[in-house]
Amino acid sequence: MDFALTEEQSAIFDMAKGFGTDRIAPNAAQWEKDGTIPRDLWPEVGELGFGGIYVSEEAGGAGLSRLDGTLIFEALSQSCASVAAFLSIHNMCCAMIDKFGSDEMKDRVLPGALPMQTILSYCLTEPGSGSDAAALKTKADRTNEGFSLTGTKAFISGGGYSDAYIVMARTGDGGPRGISAILVEDGTEGLSFGGLEDKMGWRSQPTRQVQMDECRVPAANLLGEEGHGFKYAMAGLDGGRLNIAACSLGAAQAALNATLAYMGERKAFGQSIDQFQALQFRIADMEIELEAARTFLRQAAWALDEGQADATKRCAMAKKFVTEAGSRIADQCLQLHGGYGYLADYGIEKIVRDLRVHQILEGTNEIMRLIVARKMLEARA
Ligand SMILES: Cc1cc2nc3c(=O)[nH]c(=O)nc-3n(C[C@H](O)[C@H](O)[C@H](O)COP(=O)(O)OP(=O)(O)OC[C@H]3O[C@@H](n4cnc5c(N)ncnc54)[C@H](O)[C@@H]3O)c2cc1C
Repeated sequence: MDFALTEEQSAIFDMAKGFGTDRIAPNAAQWEKDGTIPRDLWPEVGELGFGGIYVSEEAGGAGLSRLDGTLIFEALSQSCASVAAFLSIHNMCCAMIDKFGSDEMKDRVLPGALPMQTILSYCLTEPGSGSDAAALKTKADRTNEGFSLTGTKAFISGGGYSDAYIVMARTGDGGPRGISAILVEDGTEGLSFGGLEDKMGWRSQPTRQVQMDECRVPAANLLGEEGHGFKYAMAGLDGGRLNIAACSLGAAQAALNATLAYMGERKAFGQSIDQFQALQFRIADMEIELEAARTFLRQAAWALDEGQADATKRCAMAKKFVTEAGSRIADQCLQLHGGYGYLADYGIEKIVRDLRVHQILEGTNEIMRLIVARKMLEARA
């Protein structure tokens, strides 16, 4: 059993961390105020190969593993979890197209998406269906040329910002087998967007409703096979959950690093606060929890890479464990900064706000428990 990163993996981590330190960290607070991430950042990210991290090399991607991917998201989120998580969604879409799309769709979409000249969003959630995603109502009726989509998608990261949307829509009966994944390009007639959502965290990411009113797309925009869209959407989520967990891990690590430095400088009762044993125990507990989270996450990523039978369960367990650990640690770090932790200048309150949503999206942490419990009951039978 070898838990060490390879030289290549360490280099990938360092490259992502360096890019984040130079290009993201100095701007993260401003982008949050602006409510958007400048589009010209993305081609720079694309140049590093991070637009198609686990897209196959034949399709022009980096062909990296899921484990490699978690390293990239952990490293980038040390600078800003919101920017890193946005990249994860684009990657999830590119990987879906690579894995399930026709050659024609790959040739059409990936040459722009991999270098991140174009950005992709993932549209599953609706105002009336989130956790129960298979109850979605957006319909895609057959036309002579392809499909006509009508419905509303809620909470879409990149809504009104991205160049194309992978929309899960109903082409058949109720239930998961009646759902197909269809690409809707920006500018399609009938496509419009709601107002910018005013959010607690992830504020640099534009989140809007995506509305479709008889949005006509050609048959070539069907991703993979009709009626398989829900399966594709769920397949994308195993890896998406690892990435979100990695974003919690990296940002919590950044909070802990900042806290260690701060505790050496801040004085109270005639000594630096790192001399209080009660606080030393707290930093030790955080280190232990963070390292446990890191190991657990990497093991889940390995299980997904290896196609292990229990990979879905492991991804769900890791997502739940790591996102909750990350939030707990960030909150403790804020506490150890005292009042300064509550001020935006110190960057900790942003981490607390950004990480909170990781317990809600890519499947809530209640749904993660549901997946784990179901797998346990299946195994018992
Ligand atoms: C900032 C942000 C960005 C997002 N980006 C995207 C995106 O890009 N694309 C996209 O498709 N979606 C996106 N989402 C949506 C997100 O995936 C959903 O919010 C999430 O799946 C939960 O759905 P819901 O909000 O409808 O909550 P609900 O499903 O209504 O859940 C409400 C509560 O009930 C609990 N619950 C529900 N069912 C069960 C059950 N069976 N057992 C126990 N508890 C249960 C939930 O855990 C939760 O606590 C985003 C959300 C946010 C906040």
